Amino acid sequence: MNTETSTTVFDVIVIGGSHAGQSAALQIARARRRVLVIDAGARRNRFAAQSHGVIGLDGRSPDAIAADGKAQLLAYPNAQWRADTVVRAESGEAGYALRCASGQSYAARQLVLAFGVVDELPELEGLRERWGESVFHCPYCHGYELKQGRIGVLGGGPLSYLSAMLMPEWGPTVFLSDGGFEPDAAQREALARRGVDIVRERIERIVERATVELADGRRLAFDGLFMMNRFRLSSPVAEQLGCVIEEGPLGPYVRTDDAMETSAPGVFACGDITQRGGTVALAIGNGALAGIAAHRKLVFG
Ligand SMILES: Cc1cc2nc3c(=O)[nH]c(=O)nc-3n(C[C@H](O)[C@H](O)[C@H](O)COP(=O)(O)OP(=O)(O)OC[C@H]3O[C@@H](n4cnc5c(N)ncnc54)[C@H](O)[C@@H]3O)c2cc1C
Repeated sequence: MNTETSTTVFDVIVIGGSHAGQSAALQIARARRRVLVIDAGARRNRFAAQSHGVIGLDGRSPDAIAADGKAQLLAYPNAQWRADTVVRAESGEAGYALRCASGQSYAARQLVLAFGVVDELPELEGLRERWGESVFHCPYCHGYELKQGRIGVLGGGPLSYLSAMLMPEWGPTVFLSDGGFEPDAAQREALARRGVDIVRERIERIVERATVELADGRRLAFDGLFMMNRFRLSSPVAEQLGCVIEEGPLGPYVRTDDAMETSAPGVFACGDITQRGGTVALAIGNGALAGIAAHRKLVFG
């Protein structure tokens, strides 16, 4: 039963209830503190049928992992959950005050930010609907399942060169520069040593599973496509709180110290919005670290 009212001051509110947020909240619940998770329900990996690379959970569906995590967390009577979106965060009398899209307000002594990132996908016909099915960003997550089949790397910038260099671990690779980024002589030599072919023709669209149709009409069939896409923070809450945001090679991240505390005192961050994020295992790991650090700060100040 939900006994909390809008005047309840939680010890910690976790914003974002996916892998990082659940992991942080679990530590706080197990320390018998009052923790509330507010979650908008749009996990980054919701497009994928299977999640890979987390020991003990390898190959399970991301939905099932998240559902189990939520059930395990809510078995603790001092843990609460709201399906909502935090739209405003600021310092308040008790510590921090939050307002949600529903109009509901909450207060907490400390916050854990775990709201993830949004992938920015290029406007290439056929790409968006294949995201997470045959077009991926992380070879460690989805490379093995291609069974050493043909891989296309969608170019777009210098980082796609690094991706193309790495990819032959998972299958014979073609670097599709799309008439954009041109590797220099040393890079072309390195790609050749790795057995990577370069196709420079502009890409018209993606068809079937992972077949690329080029502007000259040629069709190149692959088993999977990879790209190094940009992303943005899912929420403006970190900016609202005055947290320092830094620019990484593919998008912004919230700066933290070694204990995952941001530059705003009593505000911790974990998962993909930090420089230490990028996979489920990392989100669970640094989420636990953020949760423990938030609890210790409640005790020691
Ligand atoms: C297609 C795809 C497949 C992937 N496959 C794998 C894989 O196989 N293995 C792997 O290790 N990693 C995989 N990843 C990476 C993985 O999804 C992320 O590393 C992981 O989800 C990060 O967890 P997180 O908790 O930081 O953020 P997220 O999982 O993105 O969760 C953030 C949560 O916060 C909520 N939220 C956002 N804003 C607000 C707000 N204002 N108020 C309240 N809630 C909010 C969101 O709705 C969401 O529920 C994949 C990513 C993609 C895109």
